[in-house]
Amino acid sequence: MSIKKIWSMILILSLVMAVLVGCGEISQETVGKGLDILTQIVEEELSKAEDTGAIEENITEQETAGEGNLQVHVIDIGQGSANFIVGADGKTMLYDAGGEDSSSGRVVVDYIKSLGYEKIDVAVFTHPHADHINGAPTIFKELKVESVYYPKVTHNTKTFENFANAVQNAGLKFKTAKAGVKIPFGVTTAEIVAPLSNQYENLNDYSATVKLAWKDTSVLLTGDVEKTSEKEMIESAYDLDVDLLLVPHHGSNSSTTNAFLDKTTPAYAVISCGKDNSYGHPHKEVRARLNKRNIKTYITAELGTIIATLDGETIGFTTVPK
Ligand SMILES: [Zn+2]
Repeated sequence: MSIKKIWSMILILSLVMAVLVGCGEISQETVGKGLDILTQIVEEELSKAEDTGAIEENITEQETAGEGNLQVHVIDIGQGSANFIVGADGKTMLYDAGGEDSSSGRVVVDYIKSLGYEKIDVAVFTHPHADHINGAPTIFKELKVESVYYPKVTHNTKTFENFANAVQNAGLKFKTAKAGVKIPFGVTTAEIVAPLSNQYENLNDYSATVKLAWKDTSVLLTGDVEKTSEKEMIESAYDLDVDLLLVPHHGSNSSTTNAFLDKTTPAYAVISCGKDNSYGHPHKEVRARLNKRNIKTYITAELGTIIATLDGETIGFTTVPK
């Protein structure tokens, strides 16, 4: 019952009392009792109203955000990686925001806003290469970012400097992305499973790799990890048996080893890469390894933005064509 209704009821009951008292057919004592009863009713109704309010609020929250599903939007950014994730209770995560140039930030912000979001609860940037971070300045300028995770590695480039400055200007500090860190992400489980070491020869191997799980469904977000980090993950104690694999390094043959696929056993895979890119991504060897295992693979260069919806039991896919 709404507060408005309760007040209407108080008003009606008061009028009834006034009439009764006015008619002189009821003693002052009875009126006193009547008021006590009225107070009781209102208190009861108020407590009911609180309960109902809470339920209504929960329903609204669920309906407007994720509807109890975990959604992974692999945004078609050309040659690069930008992913927007909506947790099962509506919390939001950005996992990389980079493309061929800094205009990728505009694409990502417009996409996120078109879905009705203005806030990023958690941003994860995997490693310092431009195709993963060059959209960051626009992100931090136009969206409210609550926290940012990034591995302990720097890079001597203007793009990296712009990225670090954008984080600082937003009044944020990097939280270190390394294996074992559990990211607060509402009801969705989010854990960083790599990097497992402090130093690598290859910048790609620093990639912050995140496992997201919602009930019985899960996804592994891998940045650009290569053989070295893959091997560490394979040898780690982490349960990396997932349903969906965001294929490392845009489908480069330097990653997605047979052993990594044996460890992760995905039923589905998504590759983020640009059409006719100069690297030849995804490499045919990777496609062959995925095909051999009957892993259903979706590629942004062919389909545009790919949305995976994990409902806790199964995974469904939709696309937003170019
Ligand atoms: Zn990359």
